[in-house]
Amino acid sequence: MILATHAIVGAAVAHLFPHHPVIGFLLACASHFVLDAIPHWDYHLRSLESKKEFGRGRPDMAWGRDFFIDLSKIALDGVSGVGVAFLLFRPQSWHDVLITLVGIAGGVLPDVLQFLYWKLGGKPLAWAQWVHDTFHFKKSIESPIIGASLQIVFVGILFEVVRVIL
Ligand SMILES: [Zn+2]
Repeated sequence: MILATHAIVGAAVAHLFPHHPVIGFLLACASHFVLDAIPHWDYHLRSLESKKEFGRGRPDMAWGRDFFIDLSKIALDGVSGVGVAFLLFRPQSWHDVLITLVGIAGGVLPDVLQFLYWKLGGKPLAWAQWVHDTFHFKKSIESPIIGASLQIVFVGILFEVVRVIL
């Protein structure tokens, strides 16, 4: 799913454990894999290319104009997620801010590791990517309108559930 969805859901999960930020972080991270396992839509990354044919066995986001367009999309996605998470949870103290940030960080961590794997490779990142790929739904929803709407509805329902619990 997109970073914004992961960030908001991660923040929601961490708010369920306001006195245990480490547990909140780990469960927010686990929520990433649960969300990725649900059929969903992801935006296209123009610079992402498979390097299998070059023997490196992993995709990469090639440097260049498309890379910076993709990076802008990812940044906008991430910043929107942080913004909406703060709007929804309206932290009232520094502790609340910390819990929100811990949840966001846990929620988006697997995608950050994925980006690092694409750019850097290496065994630990390859293992993290293997876990990510194992959980990730294999065939994504093609339509951005249906895909994005479903993620908004999903986040809305989850937010209401967390609000009722809290
Ligand atoms: Zn992911």
